[in-house]
Amino acid sequence: MITSPNKPNPWQTALINAVTDPKELLEILALDSHWLEPAVAASKLFPLKVPREFITRMQKGDPYDPLLQQILPIGAEFAQIEHYTEDPLQEKNANPVPGLLHKYYGRVLLTITGACAINCRFCFRRHFPYAENNPGTAGWNQVFDYIAKDPSITEVLLSGGDPLAVSDGTLRHFIERLAAIPHVKRVRVHSRLPIVVPERITTELLEWMTATRLQTILVTHCNHPQEINGAVTAALRRLTGIPLLNQSVLLKGINDQAAVLIALSESLFAAGVHPYYLHFKDKTQGTAHFEVPLEQAKALHRQMQQKLPGYLVPKLVVEEPGEPAKTSIIT
Ligand SMILES: *Cc1c(COP(=O)(O)O)cnc(C)c1O
Ligand code: SF4
Repeated sequence: MITSPNKPNPWQTALINAVTDPKELLEILALDSHWLEPAVAASKLFPLKVPREFITRMQKGDPYDPLLQQILPIGAEFAQIEHYTEDPLQEKNANPVPGLLHKYYGRVLLTITGACAINCRFCFRRHFPYAENNPGTAGWNQVFDYIAKDPSITEVLLSGGDPLAVSDGTLRHFIERLAAIPHVKRVRVHSRLPIVVPERITTELLEWMTATRLQTILVTHCNHPQEINGAVTAALRRLTGIPLLNQSVLLKGINDQAAVLIALSESLFAAGVHPYYLHFKDKTQGTAHFEVPLEQAKALHRQMQQKLPGYLVPKLVVEEPGEPAKTSIIT
C-alpha cells in the first residue's frame, strides 16, 4: 500500500471529522427537533464538537444520556448567575509569560494548544483567551527560559486545551527541550483524548513518553463509566510502565450518583488507571446547571469511601484562587 508522508493519522482524521453541527448530532441520535434551537444558540457561546466514535457510546433516543449531556449545548448556558465569572480561577494573575501558568510550588502548567478533541460544556476554559496566550516560536523560548531560571520547578504539566491534540513530532520536541533543563524531573500530560479518541495512543506517543530521561505521567479525564469501552481499555493498557491517573468533575445529571462514581473507579482501574481527583465544580459562567450542592458532594464521597478500597477513592478537591494547592474537601 502506498501512503503519502502527510497522510493524517487515524486520530487526526477523527478530530477533523468530529461533529460540529447540532442538527447532525440530533439526527445521529434520533432526538427530537425541539433540542435544535437552543443547541444552535448555545453553540455560538462555545461551539459543539464531538468525535463520531464517542457518539456511538451514547444511547440513541435518550436526551439525558450522560455522555450526551457533557457535550450538548443547551439554553441553560445563557443563565447569568451571581458570583459566576469567566475566569473563576483568576488564571490571568498566574500567567508570567504567555503559554505558562505558575500557581503552585514546584510545578508549572503549559497551555500548548487551545484545541480540544471534544468541547465539554462544563469546562472552565470555555472563556479562556487562548488567542492572546498562544506564544508562537519566540514565545516558547521565553517559556523554556522561565523554567530554566527557576530551579524549584521539577514538574511540568502539558495542558491546553488538550496537549494530545498536538502531533507526536511537536510533543517529542517539547519533551526534548524540557529534558535539557537539569532540574526538571517529570512531565505530566493532562488529556481527555485517550478516552474520547483512543487511537491517539500511537506507537510514536509511546516512544516519546518512554525514550526520555524524564518520568512521564498521563492524567486522563473521564467522568462516567460509559465513556470507557473496550478500545479505551486496550489503548490505556498499551501504556505499561507509565503512571496513569484520572481526574473527573462532579456533574449534576451525569455522575452525581454513588453507584456511577463507584463503577467509574472500577472501570478506570480495570484499564490500569488510578482515580486521582474528583473536582467540585468551579463557578464558570454558563455552567451553573452542572453544580452539585456541597453537602451532596460530601455525602457521595463518603459513600465511595464505604464501598471502595482506599486506592480507588479519588480526592474530592476544589480549586480556590490564590491558594497554594487544590483544596481538599473534608468529608
Ligand atoms: C491543577 C494545577 C496543577 C497541578 O496540581 P496537582 O495538585 O499537582 O495535580 C498545577 N498547575 C496548575 C496551574 C493547576 O491548575
Ligand atoms: S479542556 Fe478538557 S474539559 Fe475542557 S473542553 Fe477541552 S477536553 Fe473538555
